[in-house]
Amino acid sequence: MHVTKHKVVTIDYTLTDTLGEVLDTSKGAEPLSYIQGTGSIIPGLEAALEGRSPGDELKVSIPPESGYGQRDESLMLAMPRSAFQGADPIEVGMQFVANTGSSRQMFTIVGIEGEEVKVDGNHPLAGMTLNFAVTVRGVREATVEELDHGHAHSGEDGH
Ligand code: ZN
Repeated sequence: MHVTKHKVVTIDYTLTDTLGEVLDTSKGAEPLSYIQGTGSIIPGLEAALEGRSPGDELKVSIPPESGYGQRDESLMLAMPRSAFQGADPIEVGMQFVANTGSSRQMFTIVGIEGEEVKVDGNHPLAGMTLNFAVTVRGVREATVEELDHGHAHSGEDGH
């Protein structure tokens, strides 16, 4: 069976940056299962996996425009510490979701200077060329329930 739209695809992957630094890997953790053709993984990786079969190994270099997009410096904001009441302690690396106009956006705290907290609304991998080494572990039909939920199920209870 090949990877095509609405197949549940299971992959092992290692993600490195252009310097060879490992940013993320499924090694030592669970393989990733997702539904092809639903935009649940980045477009460049979905395109690279289309038509592949279990056992296939591939290396793909994905530019930002097919990955997490270019960085938007207008999403670098300074907020007063008082805006974080209830979050204690406030630490660099913490992530939170905030409403920005019509959408909800994930922000990461990137710096704290006195009463000023610097936050970044860019995806941590935005602006980066991403090198994936991927092994296709499995391909199967998605169930009606999985398509309804928009994600792959595993195990007895589904989630
Ligand atoms: Zn579900």
